[in-house]
Amino acid sequence: MLRLLSYYHCIDYRHSSPVIKTNFFASKRNVLIIGFGKTGRSAHRFLKERGHRVFVHDDFNESVPDSFDPGQMSDIDIAIKSPSVPLSSHNRHAIIENLLKDNIPIISAFDVFILYNPTARVIGITGTNGKSTTTALTYHIMKNAGIDAQIGGNIGIPYLDVPESTVYIFEMSSYELESSHHLKFEIGCILNIYPDHLKFHGDFVNYVAAKHKLLEHSQIKILSLEDIVTAEKFGYMRDVITVSTEYTPRANVYVFERAMMGGAKSVVLDLTEVPGLIGQHNYQNIEFAYAICRHYGIPDYIIAKGIRTFDSLPHRLNMIKKKLGNVLFVNDSKATNPESASKALATFLGYKIFWLVGGRSKNADTLSSVGAYLDSVQKIYLFGESADEFTRTFEGIKKTVDCKTMLSALRLAYKDAANEEGSVVILLSPMCASFDQFEDFEHRGNEFVKAVEALSNDAI
Ligand code: ADP
Repeated sequence: MLRLLSYYHCIDYRHSSPVIKTNFFASKRNVLIIGFGKTGRSAHRFLKERGHRVFVHDDFNESVPDSFDPGQMSDIDIAIKSPSVPLSSHNRHAIIENLLKDNIPIISAFDVFILYNPTARVIGITGTNGKSTTTALTYHIMKNAGIDAQIGGNIGIPYLDVPESTVYIFEMSSYELESSHHLKFEIGCILNIYPDHLKFHGDFVNYVAAKHKLLEHSQIKILSLEDIVTAEKFGYMRDVITVSTEYTPRANVYVFERAMMGGAKSVVLDLTEVPGLIGQHNYQNIEFAYAICRHYGIPDYIIAKGIRTFDSLPHRLNMIKKKLGNVLFVNDSKATNPESASKALATFLGYKIFWLVGGRSKNADTLSSVGAYLDSVQKIYLFGESADEFTRTFEGIKKTVDCKTMLSALRLAYKDAANEEGSVVILLSPMCASFDQFEDFEHRGNEFVKAVEALSNDAI
């Protein structure tokens, strides 16, 4: 940790793209959009509507509108990069290399939002896990309190598609943060930081640096005292609000005997009465949402009501309604790294857990995250391209079986679980990305739910 801290203080994560003036888009510009996914399509529409000349490049789609020809490079004034197009020097895309060589600025869709809305009140939420839940929960509380708010960003609504509003609650990914140059937040939150997306960022240090950019550009900074690297760097600055999921009276918001303490060190909420947010990891998400909403002057009792009435987002520790005998089925397809899967295992401590794991590995240190929560795991049902890796990881620790596909993993797990007594759960918490066998984590989760619905005792 110390090595990381000292290394961190001397790195420079920026690339050498030239800086533009804040009124850059006041003149009509020639803009190159790189990547024509959701973000690129939205930027294309937004800028064309405002009279700019737009060109598009996408490696995987030759039939994009306004297709860019490399011979047009000298016409380009600025480029907008989709978040997943690599920028860092270790894996930089060739077109980015050329833009940098020609000194053409490269910005993000978030930058475009800020350049067009320089006085917007923006709340930025990042972290390795819990971003979407905290973003959606904050929005739910604010709406219920009568505040005019909108959500967007990594949660699935491109920044440039978000309707005009008084307050914007944006989920910020490390990819977007890394490539942005006009970050500006009224409130910034970092929930937690664990190793993830290391292939994209090159290493953990770069990943942390991308996340920290958010707080560097926030008026009010909300952070967790459990995230030591972030607390060390920002915890002693002005306008910081701290939270802790443990009994830590020096934190502004903390937990005491399963009650959330905030404001005047008084009980805000009994955390055992939040049906939409099961598991202790959600304490953290609740605390951040509380700290944001309190800053906006919403009274404690209205915030508490909002938290109690929140419905969990799909694919995050969702109990499927169907139960066969005493077997419970849980869809946690969004658990795409070992740390989030460890929270699922912790939530079902005391159950007999039949655990479905697999997909595209994050090459993380799996056992350091899940090792302490394996006691309740009966067997691990592997699927997808990471099966060999996890067979080795759990060798001599837990029984594993390579089922190849998620559906056969489910069937095999059910065969084993059906005759067990007591509290039994079949848990899809794959701790991997889904792209080897599915379109995304939603597709994987939906297929799981469908297969559970179709499951009957005949399957045994
Ligand atoms: P993100 O948008 O950051 O991926 P989500 O809210 O979608 O986060 O949750 C993703 C996964 O992480 C789910 O499996 C969920 O149960 C788990 N999770 C949610 N909040 C936290 C947290 N604060 N700490 C660790 N894991 C969490």
